[in-house]
Amino acid sequence: MPLPKAELHLHIEGTLEPELAFALAARNGITLPYADTEALRKAYLFDDLQSFLDLYYGLMAVLLTEEDFEELADAYLARAAQQGVRHAEIFFDPQAHMVRGVGIGTVIEGLGRALERSEERHGISTRLIMCFLRDQSAESALETLEAARPHLHRIVGVGLDSAEVGHPPAKFREVYEAAAALGLRRVAHAGEEGPPAYITEALDVLGVERIDHGLRCMEDPELVERLVRERTPLTLCPLSNVRLRAIDVLEEHPLARMMDAGLLCTVNSDDPAYFGGYVDDTFHAVREALGLDQERLRELARNSFEASFLDGSPEDEALRARYIAEVAEYSFD
Ligand SMILES: [Zn+2]
Repeated sequence: MPLPKAELHLHIEGTLEPELAFALAARNGITLPYADTEALRKAYLFDDLQSFLDLYYGLMAVLLTEEDFEELADAYLARAAQQGVRHAEIFFDPQAHMVRGVGIGTVIEGLGRALERSEERHGISTRLIMCFLRDQSAESALETLEAARPHLHRIVGVGLDSAEVGHPPAKFREVYEAAAALGLRRVAHAGEEGPPAYITEALDVLGVERIDHGLRCMEDPELVERLVRERTPLTLCPLSNVRLRAIDVLEEHPLARMMDAGLLCTVNSDDPAYFGGYVDDTFHAVREALGLDQERLRELARNSFEASFLDGSPEDEALRARYIAEVAEYSFD
């Protein structure tokens, strides 16, 4: 059995494997520009951000109905269970679907159907986080939040993702204020390719509780001190950082140094179908590349539950305590 863990940085669209892409394409009468799953799998070996984004958004064409989104989420949860995931907080990008004419209700209700059966089918508790695309306008984000209103019972919080540079967090102040007023939790991608100042801005202007990625905080000692003092969780995605060239090789990843500095780090898979591994694969990869010992791995797993949004009710707290106990009792042998 793999180490029990929570996954807190996972884009559901980034779990679309070639086999499911072809199955959904066939069902929806869509022709993909690849001969077969083998050819498509080769395309997943992209070597820069633009070719990744072209493929990522291109393949979304196969996701049209509630059933499609339900199958996508269910396939992820089945894999996640095998990777030791006990709790998953899942991102989705409604704007990427609405622009294709797929209604936000189709997306949320489809994902929601898979998530509501997850504990029973896969032994994984779940939460859903709606992300805004930061390279779209602030108005579009506000419209998206408005469109999501009838479905807010399915959503625990909001996030901010996609191309970071040139789109500082403050651009989304208004929509984050509106989300907070609706009782939604707040997270944001910051300090992945963007500067450390974006992390500070996400905390101060958007009021986020977690920073997604955040590895560039290491360039600013005062910021590191603050993140340590405030116990702000960082959801790191080491395999993604290598594939998207934020760092050259995994051996150079700052994860171990960040843990040494006292930062509350978690390890996640981001877009696992595209980045070469699901979350336990990522744990194994960083263990090898950075020489993390068993206590360090246990710390990462415990952090993942501590950083989760399992703190909204006595039932949530009890569940979180149970997961953390499982981590403490886990035997690596
Ligand atoms: Zn991400």
